[in-house]
Amino acid sequence: MDKINIKNLEIFCNHGLYEEENALGQKFLVSASLILDTRKAGITDSIDVSVNYASVCNFINTYMKAHTFRLLEAAAEHLALALFAHFTPLEEITLEIKKPWAPIGLSLDYVSVEITRKWHTAYIALGSNMGDKLSYLENAVEAIKTDVNCRLVKISDFVITEPYGPVEQDEFLNGCLMIRTLYSPNELLAFLQSLEAKANRTREIHWGPRTLDLDILLFDDLVMDSDTLVIPHPEMHKRSFVLTPLSQIAPNAIHPLYNVRIKDIVPED
Ligand code: ATP
Ligand code: CA
Ligand code: CA
Repeated sequence: MDKINIKNLEIFCNHGLYEEENALGQKFLVSASLILDTRKAGITDSIDVSVNYASVCNFINTYMKAHTFRLLEAAAEHLALALFAHFTPLEEITLEIKKPWAPIGLSLDYVSVEITRKWHTAYIALGSNMGDKLSYLENAVEAIKTDVNCRLVKISDFVITEPYGPVEQDEFLNGCLMIRTLYSPNELLAFLQSLEAKANRTREIHWGPRTLDLDILLFDDLVMDSDTLVIPHPEMHKRSFVLTPLSQIAPNAIHPLYNVRIKDIVPED
């Protein structure tokens, strides 16, 4: 994708571990690589469909002066998040923050921290079969929608499905979401589990009744297997209550292990 580069924007501000740094301030140099699609702006010659680098520089300058972080890591992380929130066309950002006057009693050109953050695409399955099922699903969608690290892109219809597995229980309400997220896979899982916990989800019986179940189905084209997280979700390709709503919002999404489109593995009924 295309890039807008800003190199060594000079800002006098107060980040640092030492009180003197916070009180006196020092020079910082911020470089940013902003990844976005500039094709439309290129064709139309219109700033309205691009990101204005003067605005970005002013935003970085104001942000870096308005906050005081102890670590360059924190300054970079928070600044990246703020840039994504403010400049919506941005797909990916690499930020480097340099400290040329780092007070370490030795001479150096600069120390710096460089991070890259990007929007990922993820699909999430929602399910509930206890209490006010619709409210549990709707509250989860609302919480995902309003989280600064997530954007809701598509939402399927909610479908009523018969319970699955060995446990005798009430019917389910199921659905799927397509989101964009700045979270890593593990952070996304932790966020979804925090929403389950808020819905008073308990795990007494495996596959037993639950107020809210949020599973990560797909995350970009990632294939991973750790003790706590398996992506794609290992059962998704076998479950009509996942594939039916998923195919409604992402018929052409590809299961990266089987290399098939979702619409081609939905069971017919
Ligand atoms: P199933 O995973 O078969 O749908 P379940 O949703 O009822 O069953 P849970 O009790 O909600 O199972 O989750 C058990 C564990 O599964 C979680 O603690 C989590 O660490 C792990 N897990 C592994 N892969 C995923 C994934 N892709 N999405 C959500 N949880 C996952
Ligand atoms: Ca599940
Ligand atoms: Ca689950």
